Amino acid sequence: MSHTPAADLADRLARARQYAADLGIGALVVSPGPDLRYLIGYDAVPLERLTALVIPAHGDPLMVVPLLERPAALASPAGELGIDVLSWGETDDPYALVASTLPGVASVAVDNRMWAEKALRLRAAMPSVEQRLAGEVINHLRMRKTPSEVASLQRAGAAIDSVHASVTQWLRAGRTEREVGRDIADAILAAGHVSVDFVIVASGPNGASPHHEVSDRVIERGDAVVVDIGGTMPDGYCSDETRTYAVGTPSDEFLAAYEVLQRSQAAAVAHVRPGVACESIDAVARGILSDAGLGDLFIHRTGHGIGLETHEEPYIVSGNATLLEAGFAFSIEPGFYLAGVHGARIEDIVVCGDTGPILMNARPRELVMVGE
Ligand code: ZN
Ligand code: ZN
Repeated sequence: MSHTPAADLADRLARARQYAADLGIGALVVSPGPDLRYLIGYDAVPLERLTALVIPAHGDPLMVVPLLERPAALASPAGELGIDVLSWGETDDPYALVASTLPGVASVAVDNRMWAEKALRLRAAMPSVEQRLAGEVINHLRMRKTPSEVASLQRAGAAIDSVHASVTQWLRAGRTEREVGRDIADAILAAGHVSVDFVIVASGPNGASPHHEVSDRVIERGDAVVVDIGGTMPDGYCSDETRTYAVGTPSDEFLAAYEVLQRSQAAAVAHVRPGVACESIDAVARGILSDAGLGDLFIHRTGHGIGLETHEEPYIVSGNATLLEAGFAFSIEPGFYLAGVHGARIEDIVVCGDTGPILMNARPRELVMVGE
């Protein structure tokens, strides 16, 4: 599948440099990970040898790469950008090499996912330079999705929708969560993802643990089953969608709570538009559950941003006063969790459009009854 056009990458680099300058940061130093992929399209695996993109606030970006990885770096989309690639040999000091490219720089911001050993060795090579986190620059860019990124999230959303559409084939009483999870994992790959990032099949009382994965518990008639699944597409963008299923008929108490959950999730989605604070989306979802006496059972934030990572900014949580802008992409996933008894969650990925929400997922949100 296509990768990000070089013109888009050049634009991201230019905006990163400008925003770093605005914040008084002398240079960004970005190691392999989602930030590097976002900025130059190079999907390198983080290893012990230093690979780094160096973006001076006033100067041209360059890369420092191990000599043996030079061909891979040049073959990546980064090669099309015409960035200078400085190679270092097995016995050279790459940290001194980075330092030598930044004379007179007073502060350097390293990517938030840089290994601590690399950040500390860079600090040792530039002892008088202030170290900051590049997240304040790069997250600012990554939060604001371009139309081509929204299209990527739409493809990811359609792919995971197609997996949920088949879950009823695999989910039934007498099978274990693990068996069902294996079928789902195969389907995530068959739907076009290149990796399975997580498969949660949380049946009966396991549903009360939001990050339960799978276990050898045998699914029983009457269980509600939370199925929260996601993967990464070839272009790096992630899917994440939760639906709650019922094998046979669950308790009246569960059905009543689920009805409230559905209203909570729908109201939070409907509240999305530019200018609304992230925390007010959380407040809408939480308010409806609280009014029905379920507020104490909603034990996590309402959502998280998504893009090249499943969890990234913005977080839809009390205390985050960031105002939504068109292009913000995030989950809306309220739930209720009654320890030892049951749980439920409904999760969609939503993009803030110019006038309201744009849903990346389209599966029905009603409780899906299986094997009635
Ligand atoms: Zn999820
Ligand atoms: Zn999620």
